[in-house]
Amino acid sequence: MFNLNDFPLPFRETDMEPYMSAETIRFHYGKHLATYIANLNKLIAGTKYADMDLHEIIINSVNDESAEKIFNNAAQVFNHEFFFNCLGRGNNATPDIISDAFGGVAEFKEKFRLIANSVFGSGWVWLTHDNESGFDIIATRNADTPIAHGKKPVLALDLWEHAYYLDFQNRRADFIDTFLDSMIDWKFVLDNMNL
Ligand code: MN
Repeated sequence: MFNLNDFPLPFRETDMEPYMSAETIRFHYGKHLATYIANLNKLIAGTKYADMDLHEIIINSVNDESAEKIFNNAAQVFNHEFFFNCLGRGNNATPDIISDAFGGVAEFKEKFRLIANSVFGSGWVWLTHDNESGFDIIATRNADTPIAHGKKPVLALDLWEHAYYLDFQNRRADFIDTFLDSMIDWKFVLDNMNL
């Protein structure tokens, strides 16, 4: 059984204002994430997935056609915990390791922006890293997640409408720009990379 308390919000609901309203966070964390957790608990009850941790559920269900709903809900739980941890105020300066990898801060943001703006419908944008190929920016559709494909995520952006609609309505590109400029806790990102 998973519980919302196992995935604590790393800041107060009002901490991301004015970029992301307390109302958005209250619904996104307290309703959307809570629902993915409740659905996951119902779906795994009595199955071989019931005793697995979240990562095990994701990598075992991704190729199990009978477990598509389990994969979707488990991946969304992982994706949301990761996304909320990436958000923060006060550590927004893009670190040298990122600007060096992409040829500059502006170049990093432009590549991220291009891939994010190319997402049609619901999905996610990720900065990933591995020791051989370095950093990459990828998009995943719906609930899909890099860890299901052996990729290590270091930064996530939720592009489902519920992530931004109360604050930005149809202006998704503005949400993407605001995320890149003002909402990333790069300290969390760097600490999580273990480079
Ligand atoms: Mn979401």
